[in-house]
Amino acid sequence: MQFNSYWQDTAPAFTGGTAGPVSGHYDVAVIGAGFTGLGAARKLAQQGRRVVVLEARTVGFGASGRNGGHLNNGIAHSFLHAKGLFGAERAKAMYRAFDQGIETIERLIAEEGIACDFRRAGKLKLASKPAHYDSIARNFDAIHREVDPDTAMLSKADLAGEVGSDAFHGAMLQRKSAMMHMGRFVVGLAEAAARHGAVIHENAPVTARRPNGKGWDLTTPQGTIRADKVFLATGAYTTGAFGYFRRRIVPVGSFLLATRPLSPAEVAATMPGNRTCVTSLNIGNYFRLSPDNRLIFGGRARFSARSDQQSDAKSGAILQAALAGIFPQLAKVEVDYCWGGLVDMTKDRFPRAGQADGVYYSMGYSGHGAQIATHMGEIMADLMTGRIDCNPWADIPWNAVPGHFGQPWFLPLVGTYYKLLDRVQ
Ligand SMILES: Cc1cc2nc3c(=O)[nH]c(=O)nc-3n(C[C@H](O)[C@H](O)[C@H](O)COP(=O)(O)OP(=O)(O)OC[C@H]3O[C@@H](n4cnc5c(N)ncnc54)[C@H](O)[C@@H]3O)c2cc1C
Repeated sequence: MQFNSYWQDTAPAFTGGTAGPVSGHYDVAVIGAGFTGLGAARKLAQQGRRVVVLEARTVGFGASGRNGGHLNNGIAHSFLHAKGLFGAERAKAMYRAFDQGIETIERLIAEEGIACDFRRAGKLKLASKPAHYDSIARNFDAIHREVDPDTAMLSKADLAGEVGSDAFHGAMLQRKSAMMHMGRFVVGLAEAAARHGAVIHENAPVTARRPNGKGWDLTTPQGTIRADKVFLATGAYTTGAFGYFRRRIVPVGSFLLATRPLSPAEVAATMPGNRTCVTSLNIGNYFRLSPDNRLIFGGRARFSARSDQQSDAKSGAILQAALAGIFPQLAKVEVDYCWGGLVDMTKDRFPRAGQADGVYYSMGYSGHGAQIATHMGEIMADLMTGRIDCNPWADIPWNAVPGHFGQPWFLPLVGTYYKLLDRVQ
């Protein structure tokens, strides 16, 4: 078994980076080469702006190269809950922003010729308990009527042709949802940004920043650049020089396994519907098939703020037991990959984007970020160049998490709380 992301291991190497010292004067410096940063950099470069991307490690090193591979449409929250918080119109706009995100990805794939196995697969939200089916059905009624008619409720019997498991009591199907190879997409997006003229420096962590009158001087171990505007796209991996954001983002580990490729008979017995699947527990699981028919199976597993080989291995063992619980027929299947990544949680699990602490930013996608991150990159590029403001998260207040200064010491308590909820609800 490799302790390595399947997406990163099976993606082509990024070839468009700029070697040598980090120097020069740019209209915009983007910090972080994940979907958010690269989505912005590509668009800014396409518009003829001088743009540099500074990435601490390598393209797609963060959550963008380590996730579950789902492009699930709509908001991850209950739509009814969002309506209660923000009102019907705002909740619908938020839901639709995620749908537009998938369209953005589809357009970028076509425009830039990115081969990444994109497919409108549809998503199943699987009810892990009978009572969950009822609450999913209530949410479905509102979604179907008000914002997304391309949805359906499936009974337990309907699931027979979808998921080869007895563990579920029905599901909501959201047909607009998609899947893709995340590693191939993030590298393809970086190559596209570089082709349009973005300068991309890997292994260039921004360690300090200093105002220079008009913008910022950003320091990396490879040199210093001058930028009129800075776009912070560092998500859960945000480090020291940006304390304002570290107090608002809680990094939470999420973990995945990829089995060996399944045979056609095993696919037919486990995932005949070949959709993205998410279970309804608070500490639940998400899974899909890879392009080469591996079961990619993830979950929060443990409430940890770490993802390294030791932490990933512990979580991998928990995930393997969960996989066997859902698919007993795969209890002994070989696991080829085990990895983890950090999710950029906000307290209410809604993203935040705008301008604060002297920089532009977009982050806090809370585990539902692949398409919205890419889409927000484009939206923020337009906002930074004064073209148009389509920021769906504008004006949502964002207070620091009380007692949080970067290391989320409270995660085990939160984990215990959600485990209890899963027992009683
Ligand atoms: C395990 C896991 C599973 C997930 N599954 C899904 C899923 O199936 N579907 C979905 O929609 N979303 C999923 N997500 C969420 C999704 O992957 C993220 O929301 C999205 O990738 C965020 O992209 P980003 O560009 O904002 O951040 P990232 O991809 O995390 O990129 C941030 C980058 O900033 C760099 N950086 C940090 N600090 C500095 C610095 N000081 N200087 C320079 N560079 C710096 C980091 O090295 C990193 O490369 C998952 C996340 C995880 C961790």
